Amino acid sequence: MEEKVKKSKEDVKIVIVGAGIAGLSAAKHLHDAGFNNVTILEATSRIGGRIHTIPFGKTDSEIIELGAQWIHGEGEENSVYTFAMDHDLLNPLIRWNWRTGKFYNESGHAISEEISMKAMNLAFEVEETLDEESRTKNILADEDLYLYGYFDRRFEKLASTEFPKDDEDNAKDCFNYFLNYLRFDNGNDLRLQFSQNFGGYFAVGENKDVCISNGGFQTITDLLASYLPKDSIHLDSPVSSIKWSTPEIKVVCDSGAEFSADHVIVTLSLGYLQKHHEHLFEPSLPLNKSQALHQIGYGTVNKIFLYYDEPFWTKGQGTIRFAWTDKNREIKNADEWYKAIHAFDEPHNNAHVLVGSVVGEEGKYIENLDIKEVSRVCTQQIRMFLNDDSIPAPRDVLVTKWNSNKWSCGSYSYMKQESSESRRNDLGQPLFNDDNKPVVLFAGEACHKSRFSTADGARSTGIDQAQILVNLYSLE
Ligand SMILES: Cc1cc2nc3c(=O)[nH]c(=O)nc-3n(C[C@H](O)[C@H](O)[C@H](O)COP(=O)(O)OP(=O)(O)OC[C@H]3O[C@@H](n4cnc5c(N)ncnc54)[C@H](O)[C@@H]3O)c2cc1C
Repeated sequence: MEEKVKKSKEDVKIVIVGAGIAGLSAAKHLHDAGFNNVTILEATSRIGGRIHTIPFGKTDSEIIELGAQWIHGEGEENSVYTFAMDHDLLNPLIRWNWRTGKFYNESGHAISEEISMKAMNLAFEVEETLDEESRTKNILADEDLYLYGYFDRRFEKLASTEFPKDDEDNAKDCFNYFLNYLRFDNGNDLRLQFSQNFGGYFAVGENKDVCISNGGFQTITDLLASYLPKDSIHLDSPVSSIKWSTPEIKVVCDSGAEFSADHVIVTLSLGYLQKHHEHLFEPSLPLNKSQALHQIGYGTVNKIFLYYDEPFWTKGQGTIRFAWTDKNREIKNADEWYKAIHAFDEPHNNAHVLVGSVVGEEGKYIENLDIKEVSRVCTQQIRMFLNDDSIPAPRDVLVTKWNSNKWSCGSYSYMKQESSESRRNDLGQPLFNDDNKPVVLFAGEACHKSRFSTADGARSTGIDQAQILVNLYSLE
């Protein structure tokens, strides 16, 4: 039987780096288990990390989500869903409904609901089939190895076999919409995403996406923090080095402030670790860990928010789905970023706003554009697809900048060819000292084997790493 460590949990010092949902969940779990010497060091002046709700409009109740918006999956296994249910944040229950809105192509043609719904049902079936195939690692054809080829080849066939000749082109347009939607859902260009490593979202509950109805997503992280002693969270405290070979670990901040610890839980984003691990850890990370950091993909997803004083759409029917034709769908350069927007959606918590997203290299590109240019191009695109030149320009536009945000260095992780469950496992493994004690532990969305990229994945890894310490100090 494993020998229990003698120090009591009242004496043990734990430092958590990062006050995103992984760090806050770890801290709450430790706090609930009776650990009262837990310090969170957060680089920025706010908690929440990639969960960030802000007001956008004339009143504070008009809010937008710069980061996470959806709880992916209703089910006991979803740690954010259960937390939100326990705190009555899902009443009324607001579900993502892909049937809302209309599909248009760039000629201003509204595609019939009959064609678009049939195409979407077929597309979701292809997605489910791939999810099953990827679990059994049965994908053999070279052309299918990356998501783009896998889906595009099947869509091409489905358009000609499942639709009458007259509807084939419109069905293809809808499938092109779906390819762009998948890009957003999976966090990078589909040509970089490895089919055999597909999967994740399908494992939880009934696979319904729901929104926080009271407040924004940040209510979750605010609530988590409210359980912790006020002085345990140190804001504006960027950590510059973690010296973990000494008998006691030293965590040093940019300011020179030094925190000693028996254990450190690192919840930095994968993008941050990829960029900074070499000078952050002393001694450096073991080879399997530093390799795993680079073998997992980390992409950019940015959102564009358009604010209209007078919404030009009918509430509940405003979603515009961009179904480019085959002739124009290809994105030749990042300056064709507008082709990567799969839709403008109505967010449930702001009746004056439409939100779209741009992923991958195009997502990075828009971070440097003048906001007037973004406004001009989006307006032109909406007018072209709706075939209506009277659509007004938005009064205000906001573009997120997750890639140039130096504390997130991008948006969320994805599976590229070298990625696999075992690489994620290497990423999430603690570092042990000479006494075989876990001294540096790792949590955060990228460490989760199947729920990577999600807020609930991040939360679960925080709880799991905290539980390792709870077990270590639990005395019979
Ligand atoms: C645009 C976008 C849309 C998304 N949509 C969804 C969605 O709908 N549903 C969903 O489930 N998920 C979504 N996600 C993903 C989700 O937001 C993340 O998976 C989750 O919030 C990650 O939490 P984390 O604790 O692992 O990391 P983070 O939230 O990144 O927390 C890490 C913390 O570490 C801090 N930090 C960085 N460097 C230092 C340093 N040197 N010293 C101290 N602190 C430091 C950061 O400031 C940050 O607060 C989205 C993300 C983005 C960007």
